[in-house]
Amino acid sequence: MGAERYVLANFKMNKNLFEIKKWADEFLSLLYKGKKLSLKVGCAPTFIYIKALKEIVIGTGFLVGAQNMHFEEKGAFTGEVSPTQLKDIGVDFVIIGHSERRNIFGESDELISKKLVSALKHNILPVLCVGETKEEREKGETEKVLIKQISILSKIPDELKNQKIVIAYEPVWAIGTGIPATKDKIEKAVELIRKEASKFIKDFSVLYGGSIDEKVAEEIKDICDGGLVGTASLDPQKFYKISQNFDI
Ligand code: PEP
Repeated sequence: MGAERYVLANFKMNKNLFEIKKWADEFLSLLYKGKKLSLKVGCAPTFIYIKALKEIVIGTGFLVGAQNMHFEEKGAFTGEVSPTQLKDIGVDFVIIGHSERRNIFGESDELISKKLVSALKHNILPVLCVGETKEEREKGETEKVLIKQISILSKIPDELKNQKIVIAYEPVWAIGTGIPATKDKIEKAVELIRKEASKFIKDFSVLYGGSIDEKVAEEIKDICDGGLVGTASLDPQKFYKISQNFDI
């Protein structure tokens, strides 16, 4: 059996409560009307809307995620949200190490590895983001960067090594630019990620993220196990079409 397939939306800091409810209603009605999808679909809204989204999708199998979390269970960490708090409101997955967290908020591989292990410990599916910047690609450092980012999987203790992990290949230069990576670049990177990750873990899926639209999804559906979708996910019609195209 192949790896589990996922199409996950990352809303980033977009949409208010009304808009999220409207989005969920529209997406679910498309889901009910269309052919049943065999892959898993989900969405990570801003923290404060997770509970509302969870209440709308309860019982549908739709996954609800967080875009970040702290690695500690509780304590004096103003502004942070813990894995136990996320679990308490039914969070299914958490995005870890998104390039915006790495580059704007200065998250290091060391911090990201602590979050990854913590998510696994609390039974929250981690979606680990990796990817090179434009400068790194131009300097021919793509492989080196990916190998280093993936090597944090070595920090997972033995008792958690059999848990499922999602890895998203998200080249930084393709995120939010409207210019996705080409099929051959995605194929090469995904192949390398699979090879490196399999040194440490067994049960993982590799997604692509970076300006995905329905055309990209159709093109790369055989190369990766789904997608992490930013901009296009904000439109329920587009997100549904992308999900359909990744469903094989
Ligand atoms: C993302 O930020 O995870 C992402 C994939 O964004 P976009 O689809 O807008 O490139």
